Amino acid sequence: MAKRDYYEILGVDKGASKQEIKRAYRKLSRKYHPDVSKEENAEEKFKEIAEAYEVLSDEDKRARYDQFGHAGVDGNGGGFGQGGFGGFGQGGFGGGFDDIFDMFFGGGGRSRSRNAPRKGSDLRVNIAVEFEEAAFGTKKDITIPRTEDCETCDGKGAKSSSDVETCAKCGGSGEIQFKQNTPFGQMVQTTTCDRCSGTGKFVKNPCPDCHGNGKVKKRRTVSIDIPAGVDDGMTLRVRGEGEAGVNGGPAGDLQVVINVKRHKIFKRRGNDVLCEVPISFVQATLGDEIQVPTLDGKVKFTIPEGTQPATTFRLKDKGIPYLRGSGRGDQHIKVKVVIPKKLDDKQKDLLKEFAEISGEEINPEHKGFLQKIKDAFGLD
Ligand SMILES: [Zn+2]
Ligand SMILES: [Zn+2]
Repeated sequence: MAKRDYYEILGVDKGASKQEIKRAYRKLSRKYHPDVSKEENAEEKFKEIAEAYEVLSDEDKRARYDQFGHAGVDGNGGGFGQGGFGGFGQGGFGGGFDDIFDMFFGGGGRSRSRNAPRKGSDLRVNIAVEFEEAAFGTKKDITIPRTEDCETCDGKGAKSSSDVETCAKCGGSGEIQFKQNTPFGQMVQTTTCDRCSGTGKFVKNPCPDCHGNGKVKKRRTVSIDIPAGVDDGMTLRVRGEGEAGVNGGPAGDLQVVINVKRHKIFKRRGNDVLCEVPISFVQATLGDEIQVPTLDGKVKFTIPEGTQPATTFRLKDKGIPYLRGSGRGDQHIKVKVVIPKKLDDKQKDLLKEFAEISGEEINPEHKGFLQKIKDAFGLD
């Protein structure tokens, strides 16, 4: 697939300033961040944007890109096979061996500087909600321990801003390069600067509250809006409530995993609610008006005459609201016809009479013990 022009991706002119490029990148990366974006192909777009920015924000790479197009910057990975080398012949690469070497082996790794702002880690918590709360939504306060930027020093770790200086060992890049001679020529290896741990900054007088860390552990109460319709196992993402970012990067997110408690009566299937309602065999036979529990309270429901055991009836729109949508699922009522276990003599007689009228032969096995003896001796 042909690669899109980096300027086009960021929507800036070829002559755009560093600031304009940065602004365009920030705007687009917010829009397409895969964690939050609802746009189609957000992840691909986000990667494309990041790649474009990586090149255009770096003076050397941008110059190479301007001169040779994608071929000039596709040094790492498959660039060679894809024709990345084409630029060499056509453009008359002026820089000599080192530049070409850099082009193939330097690549992406170098440009992603170690003291670049990074997003903080996400935090994950479980939250238990009642069945009804999941159905109709609720608000929950949860207290989480998390790392925040120290307020005293604004996350800088220094007593005052004059106590922060650029690390002398790495010159502020956060990394140190070693040159190594190998059979293939001189190789450049990069490691994190040990003096500043890759931050590029060195603190002379550390902040007393965070001991120079710039970060403090805090317990913080976060109010969580649980939308109507959430289901067991779903994860809600609360932006910016995770761990503090690194080097001024944004805070991570808080992931809230929903655990829905079991309900005494209701079960859930998608957005439908299922429940069983016991009725007597007389109600099933003759029909009746009964009270049925729903999420909205009890409602009247007419059992029709001649209802068979395990028949399921549907109550429209009495189910669970659709998450971030409109409308609700249905409720399904399954009738459980209860057969009485203990009947008194009168009740039995009436049923026998009923059987007789219906022309039904009752198995003699089911006659009472006394009756059997009477039958055996021809009595009565
Ligand atoms: Zn350093
Ligand atoms: Zn501090």
